[in-house]
Amino acid sequence: MLEPFHLSIKAVVEKLNSNTKKGLTESEVKQRIKKYGKNEIASKKPKRKWKILFDQCNNPIIFILIIAAGLTFYFNDDLAETIAIIAVIIITISIGFVMELQGIRSLEALRQMGFTESTVLRDGKIKTVKSSFLVPGDIVFIQAGDVISTDARLISVENLTIKEASLTGESNTIYKDILPLPINTILSDRSNMVFKGTTSEQGSGKAIVVNTGRNTQLGRIQEMGTNVKEQRTPLEKKLNALSKWLISLTLIFAILIIFTGYLRGLEMLLIIETAVALAVAAIPEGLPVIATIALARGMLTLSKRKVIIKKMESVEALGATNIICTDKTGTLTEDKMQVHTLVFEDEILNQLLIKERVDFHNVEKSDALTAMMMTSVLCNNVILNVEEMRGDSLELALIQVAEKFNFNPKEIKENHPEELEIPFNTSSKLMATLNQNKEGFTVHVKGAFESVINYCDTIFKNNKPQVFINKKEWVHRVNDLASQGLRVLAFAYKKHERKPEKKDILSQLTFIGIIGFLDPAREDVKATIQVYKEAGIKVVMMTGDHPGTAKKIAEDIGLLSKNAASNSIIHGKDLQFESHTNTIFEKNLLDASVFARVTPEQKLKLVSLYQENDNVVGMFGDGINDIPALRKADIGIAMGIRGTQAAREAADVILKNDKFTAMELAIKQGRSIFDHIRQFVVYLLSCNLAEVVSVGLAAILALPAPLLPLQILFLNLVTDIFPALALGMGKGEKQIMKRPPRRANEPIMSAKRWKSTILYGLSITAAVVGITAYASLVLELSAKIINNMAFFTLVLAQLLNVFSMADRKVSFFNNEIVQNPWVWAAIILSLLITISAYYIQPVANALFLTNLSLEQIGWVIAFAFGSLVLSQLFKRLGLTF
Ligand code: ADP
Ligand code: MG
Repeated sequence: MLEPFHLSIKAVVEKLNSNTKKGLTESEVKQRIKKYGKNEIASKKPKRKWKILFDQCNNPIIFILIIAAGLTFYFNDDLAETIAIIAVIIITISIGFVMELQGIRSLEALRQMGFTESTVLRDGKIKTVKSSFLVPGDIVFIQAGDVISTDARLISVENLTIKEASLTGESNTIYKDILPLPINTILSDRSNMVFKGTTSEQGSGKAIVVNTGRNTQLGRIQEMGTNVKEQRTPLEKKLNALSKWLISLTLIFAILIIFTGYLRGLEMLLIIETAVALAVAAIPEGLPVIATIALARGMLTLSKRKVIIKKMESVEALGATNIICTDKTGTLTEDKMQVHTLVFEDEILNQLLIKERVDFHNVEKSDALTAMMMTSVLCNNVILNVEEMRGDSLELALIQVAEKFNFNPKEIKENHPEELEIPFNTSSKLMATLNQNKEGFTVHVKGAFESVINYCDTIFKNNKPQVFINKKEWVHRVNDLASQGLRVLAFAYKKHERKPEKKDILSQLTFIGIIGFLDPAREDVKATIQVYKEAGIKVVMMTGDHPGTAKKIAEDIGLLSKNAASNSIIHGKDLQFESHTNTIFEKNLLDASVFARVTPEQKLKLVSLYQENDNVVGMFGDGINDIPALRKADIGIAMGIRGTQAAREAADVILKNDKFTAMELAIKQGRSIFDHIRQFVVYLLSCNLAEVVSVGLAAILALPAPLLPLQILFLNLVTDIFPALALGMGKGEKQIMKRPPRRANEPIMSAKRWKSTILYGLSITAAVVGITAYASLVLELSAKIINNMAFFTLVLAQLLNVFSMADRKVSFFNNEIVQNPWVWAAIILSLLITISAYYIQPVANALFLTNLSLEQIGWVIAFAFGSLVLSQLFKRLGLTF
């Protein structure tokens, strides 16, 4: 639809054949989806199969193999070897192809889960639907914190403000209204429209969808921009760098071999073949792909447990997270507010919850109580005209308590239409409304006590406003409720005969009293806090709430001990970040674990401070104001049900079941994935090293050749990939949450890991060289048999090498690798392939295999296990990890 901003609401609704009272019917929606398509902007097209195949071929290994095949064909009369190399090429490409396809599929599945939802009116009912199923003509509701998912013409607004920076670059807040605009109004001035991709900041609104998917402004912009290049994760980049480095190293080594071979006057074919085999042996071409598969699999496992990781790179940071910042309400507490205590100057209504049965309907209502209930209802954004009330839990509780005292919220709202609203935000910590009635106007204010009290100069006493002289006493009353863990809200109001100006709304108010809400700590949080403690992760509570309430909840969940030092709770008003010279203060900040009455800006600064001190920070956030801090944190975490859409958009991790405890799973997974990546990197590199050194030694020292080029190719494909993949499927060590997190900048391969790689590689080489020497010097066997024994020893020793990848601190028989069924499956598969090669004659010929006696097989097994014993010896001596 073109220029809907120029038309009246009525014209737009008619044109789209819709109805503002009932919305579209579901059957109409189905037809429109057929006509207009889903509300989606096709992101990048998925990579095509032939492109994946092409990328697999476009790989140094394959080039080397093709050259090798050509050379063998040219120099060698026997076609078998050429065919064998071609087979190797096909196998290499197929494995790579299947693995990459698998990785892409998992990622696609993950992307599908990141959908957003919208509130829409259909068949006369308010429903929540996936935003991709919105169609032109749909009537949608917009609330503060929503990410707008279509282009829509506004029908009604209440203080609706939108941030449109993502679309127009305009960073100022835009106030919306509903009046038609001239036809030549530019995009950023179309104040009666909301656009896909922008975020609502405050207020609420109702709108009719005019364009969806590719027809939206955002869709058009994205169509114009050519496809964005796929970003690699830092981990992939590191692994790729590692691979490249190894490739260059190997090439140097290969050239060296060709050169020495040439000097020694060896046959050119053999030299080149050896060099090629060496190159193939050394390059861990599977590395980045296996890493991607491990990452994607980890993310899928988490998604089944309601934890959505939006970006792959987050997994890396998860494993290193050592500080988790969290708000209080809804995260650590239930957020099922119940009114507990009402305090007025003249009376206290205590423990209302317990007196559930008492009939409040007939309680004699003081003027103070009436004023408080009027404020509760009027200074409140809960939507009442629907079957199921929706809104902030605090405000829902207020509606309920008003009903309990026999007030009729709907009637009150109708008789006192709202003229103006100052919305609640976490910085001002209060909300105010201006309402009209028959006699004149009233201002109603509710919010944090410290905020509201600033604007009060009178107090309700003996049914009339009197000078407010006992503010100190009220501070004690507030502290008293807060120290019981109650969430405290203060109330104030004022009557006006004539409509006051906006700037005068918050002045000379009359204080009414306070309400304490019961919002108990969640049951399961305490155990999780303990887990984090053991895992070396510090939990920091950053709340907008009162220090007393914060302290009680912190004690209840075990974040603070009952007699914690006084400096462990820091008050927002004492936070000053400019005084960086004062290092003692900074240390206090880093040590504290509860921050009360903090603003979103202060949260952001705290996150930065932590990061400057080399911490990896995870941060919970739910509101629009939290978005900068969510972005700044290494891991931004949003709740799937409670949080605003905008917060979910900005976050890296979404907890779909809103459970603080679910984060534990994510961190555990992050740690184990990183462990696994290190395991298979060391595994692949040590196996490759063993191959390189065996071939290299044989070539340089002119030993009876222990390994032939094709044999190397074979075992490089069979014995490396499967066990490495299986390592990535492990469950993670049981003790994984009992050790401190990895340091922020720790590389995949630390010095100790390099050393371990070399020692494990040499253990395998020792077995191969050992059996060669033993078979030729002691057993005096033929060259072919010696070669076969060395080959099988290498196969077996490499398979056994997988068991050396467990950490030194866990027992050899009881660790995640021994208990990983995939590892056993990989070993059996590799053995089966090797045995088949032995029995299938053409393959056996190409691999130069011959029959071995039982005794000789016995020696193979003995030497292979010998290499494992040697590795374990190094490990137990503390030389390796
Ligand atoms: P938390 O960190 O516990 O989520 P908030 O930042 O949401 O805290 O709230 C801070 C304070 O603002 C609360 O202690 C309360 O006094 C006040 N407040 C919270 N919600 C509202 C609301 N809807 N209207 C007015 N005041 C509110
Ligand atoms: Mg909050």
